[in-house]
Amino acid sequence: MLGKATDFVLTLAYPQACQICEQSVENLSDGVACRACWERTRIFSGAETLCNKCGKFLQAKPTNFQTFCHKCDEHFYDAASAVGIYEYALSASVLNLKREPFVAKRLQKLFVSRFQNSSFQDATKIIPVPLSKKRFLERGFNQAAVLAETLAKQSRTPLDRLTLVRQIHTPLHRASMDNKARETSVKNAFEVKRPKLIEGESILLVDDVFTSGATVSNCAKTLKENGAEKVYILTVARAV
Ligand SMILES: [Zn+2]
Ligand SMILES: [Zn+2]
Repeated sequence: MLGKATDFVLTLAYPQACQICEQSVENLSDGVACRACWERTRIFSGAETLCNKCGKFLQAKPTNFQTFCHKCDEHFYDAASAVGIYEYALSASVLNLKREPFVAKRLQKLFVSRFQNSSFQDATKIIPVPLSKKRFLERGFNQAAVLAETLAKQSRTPLDRLTLVRQIHTPLHRASMDNKARETSVKNAFEVKRPKLIEGESILLVDDVFTSGATVSNCAKTLKENGAEKVYILTVARAV
């Protein structure tokens, strides 16, 4: 505990080095990335074309019609949205969130505003993608739950951290894994403990990063099989 408190004081006293370019981070609210790296990061503004279902980045220019990537046709959630692309400040923030249960102010604002500008306003419950017991014990916290807590507090939407659990300890998804391998590794990994609590609810499922969508789709499948009406996905970053 003392170690953590000391770290915080040191961070305040000396500007931190940006985890991407090593320039100093002048503003504490920027977290682990400097302002220039934040400015290089593609944050979705609503002007780009994204897949209407999974939120995949399709092109920088807008289109006048609804667009689908169709790779997500089989996914079980209703729609997914992210703050921006998994690069620079967003990837550094996601990686840091696996080490420290802390969401910098700038990211908090972006995350909450993405939710408030989404079509997920009818969500009645926020649920974080759970970790297995083993990984939770290794890490000491669930980074998705840290994000979900922040969002629940600021949007005044009820948080539920207990209903959805991860039964099987799946290996960490590696960059080299293809979609099929990711899909197989999370199949049947999730379980709903108290179905009554999600019956007829519109669930907002929160995670740090959306890669293939296999994990969130399996969570959504389990939630819907147990009575959830709708499942939306909100993540900090979206892999391209
Ligand atoms: Zn930087
Ligand atoms: Zn899609």
